Amino acid sequence: MNDFVSPSALSPQQQHLSGGLQVQHVSKSFSLKGAPLPVLDDISLTIAPGEFVAIVGASGCGKSTLLRLLAGLDTDYTGLLLHDGVPIRGTDLHRGLVFQDHRLFPWLTVQQNVAVAFSNTKVPPAERAARVAAEITRVGLDGYADAYPHQLSGGMSQRAAIARALVGRPDVLLLDEPLGALDALTRLRLQQELRRLWQDEGITMVMVTHDIDEAVYLADRIVVLDARPGKVRRVQDVPLAHPRQRGSPGFVAIRD
Ligand code: ADP
Ligand code: MG
Repeated sequence: MNDFVSPSALSPQQQHLSGGLQVQHVSKSFSLKGAPLPVLDDISLTIAPGEFVAIVGASGCGKSTLLRLLAGLDTDYTGLLLHDGVPIRGTDLHRGLVFQDHRLFPWLTVQQNVAVAFSNTKVPPAERAARVAAEITRVGLDGYADAYPHQLSGGMSQRAAIARALVGRPDVLLLDEPLGALDALTRLRLQQELRRLWQDEGITMVMVTHDIDEAVYLADRIVVLDARPGKVRRVQDVPLAHPRQRGSPGFVAIRD
C-alpha cells in the first residue's frame, strides 16, 4: 500500500478551516555584488484554507524565493505574510516544506531524518518516536526506518522528505518542485498520493512546479508568477475550468 492515507484512517471531520495564507504587498530583494537585486515586487496573493494551489513561472522568476518566505526560512522582506491571520516570523511545524532534492542528511537514518523536524520543539521524546513511526508507515516506507538515504531510490527519498514535513502535523504543505527529479511513473504515483493526502486531510497545498500538466492535474488553482525583465513581478490567478471537489474520485490509482 503506497498511498499516504489509507481509507480506514480517514475522518470526514478532518476537514478544517486552518491553513490559510495571505501574501500582502510582499517585496524581496537580494544583494548582488553590493547592488540590490529585486526578485519579488509587490506580490499579493490569498490562498484559502484547504486549497491546492500550483505556482508556475519561468526559471528564476522567484518561485523558490516566495516559498522560502512562506516557510519562514527567510524573514528579510517587506510587506505582510500571514498564516491564518498570524504574521509569519520564522519556521513553524505547522508549515511543512519539501524541496526538489529531498535534503535528507546522509549520515542519518530515515527515522532520524524525519525526527529532525522536532529539533527545537517541546514535543516529548516518546511522542516523537510514535509520530515518526506513524509517518514512515503513512508514506509507505515501512521496513526502511533504519535505512540511510543512499540506500533509497529517488522516490523513496522524497517519501522520507514528505514524512519529515508531515510529522509536525502541518496544515500547510509547501512543495518546491518536489517531483521534478523523479522518473515518470514514480512521479505519477506520488502525484496521486499527494492528491489523496490533500483530499483526505484537508491540508493546504502550495506546490511550485515547472510542469504545467502537473499543475492542471493536481491543483484547484494555478498561480502564474510573471517576471518579464525590467517589469514588475506580479501574480496572475488562473482558475481551472472544472475545479474538482474534495472527496471526488479524481484519479485512478496505479498499483504495482
Ligand atoms: P525560481 O525558483 O523561480 O527558479 P528563485 O526564487 O530561486 O527562482 O530565484 C529568483 C532570483 O533570485 C534569481 O535571479 C536568483 O538568481 C536570485 N536569487 C535566489 N536566491 C538568491 C540568493 N540567496 N542570493 C542572491 N540571489 C538569489
Ligand atoms: Mg526554484
